[in-house]
Amino acid sequence: MREPSAALPRLARVDTLHALGEQVSGCTRCRLAQTRTQVVFGVGNPHADLMFVGEAPGFHEDKQGLPFVGQAGKLLDQLLAAIGLDRSQVYVANVLKCRPPGNRDPAPDEIESCEPHLFRQIELIEPKVVATLGNFATKLLSGKPTGITRVHGVEQETTVGGNRVLLYPLYHPAAALYTPRMLDVLKQDFARIPELMGRAVEVPEQEPVSALPSEPAVQLGLF
Ligand code: URA
Repeated sequence: MREPSAALPRLARVDTLHALGEQVSGCTRCRLAQTRTQVVFGVGNPHADLMFVGEAPGFHEDKQGLPFVGQAGKLLDQLLAAIGLDRSQVYVANVLKCRPPGNRDPAPDEIESCEPHLFRQIELIEPKVVATLGNFATKLLSGKPTGITRVHGVEQETTVGGNRVLLYPLYHPAAALYTPRMLDVLKQDFARIPELMGRAVEVPEQEPVSALPSEPAVQLGLF
């Protein structure tokens, strides 16, 4: 039986995260293994208090093996800089670790196949705040079907990967790139992240390890 990560010392969690990345690099749990260039596991500080979860790798991510390296990634960098952070201080991953062909939406069975990788990442990183970018990450990690238009900017305490975290849904940067009003809202929502991280640090909550309730992954696009 797998040990809960809380039982693992800090350095062992980093090693285990690294080993998970190696293991996932050969994943064949779904059809995307046949069309990807490579698995995009995730990158950043393995002890980050703040973790971002996007949707799936796109063209550039698939080529480079890193999340958010295209236009949406540049916007993410700018948004981070505006709150005094950079990529080295956060961890960035996606719901899907492999690119859906033509950047189509993730299919429910692909999300179901891939979600254990994300839950284990969260369990090992133990972030205090998990910012979900767009509908797919928000619905998966909240376990609720409510769309991002209704829940963006509204933090919610929940248990993910056995850890108590503050879930903070945000519009997806790719959607905000082309919609100025959405970009304004994303900037405003982003500006609250430091406060949420402070709050999350002040109120540590420990709960027994338990799995996220497995809701069917509803597929409704970015927003
Ligand atoms: N969009 C995502 O959701 N993830 C990426 O890694 C890149 C673009």
